[in-house]
Amino acid sequence: MIDRLGAVVQDYPKPGITFRDLTPVFADGPALRGMVDALLAGYEGQFDFVAGVEARGFLLAAAAAYASERGVITIRKPGKLPRATYTETYDMEYGQNSLELHVEDVPAGSRVLILDDVLATGGTLAAAARLIESAGSSVAGFGVVLELGELGGRKALAGHNVRSLITY
Ligand code: IMP
Repeated sequence: MIDRLGAVVQDYPKPGITFRDLTPVFADGPALRGMVDALLAGYEGQFDFVAGVEARGFLLAAAAAYASERGVITIRKPGKLPRATYTETYDMEYGQNSLELHVEDVPAGSRVLILDDVLATGGTLAAAARLIESAGSSVAGFGVVLELGELGGRKALAGHNVRSLITY
């Protein structure tokens, strides 16, 4: 389903980048439900919160949190969160970026499942993990719909459980 519905966009957002667009997969009801269920499989009982990385990670995290009766945590791009934050800067396949987490959103000692749409170099999810750890909590695991295997993201997340639904 991911294979059939996902779109490939050449030279986006920069020349030389092949961008995998999953928005048509999110727009398909059975596909969305299947992805969320598959991401949760294996993590049952192992997490207290589901965190999503802005923006497409929010879609997965909210649905997964609802399905598992857990709260959802937003890991956001800079300047979006109004109260005190932890901030982590990281390198991406195309540039540098930062992510932020409200200091008070995650009670210390929580186990957090982190979801996003795509794992590429792993910089984004590694930064998300550092944010959760800054809050005195632990990463229960990562879940992504699509893993771009050649970019080695799994290595950047060594020591953590990583579940991806499809690898290119
Ligand atoms: P990484 O930090 O290099 O692993 O990049 C992952 C982040 O960039 C995720 O938040 C993705 O949403 C985004 N990303 C990178 N490549 C793609 C792609 O081909 N399609 C969709 N999102 C991507």
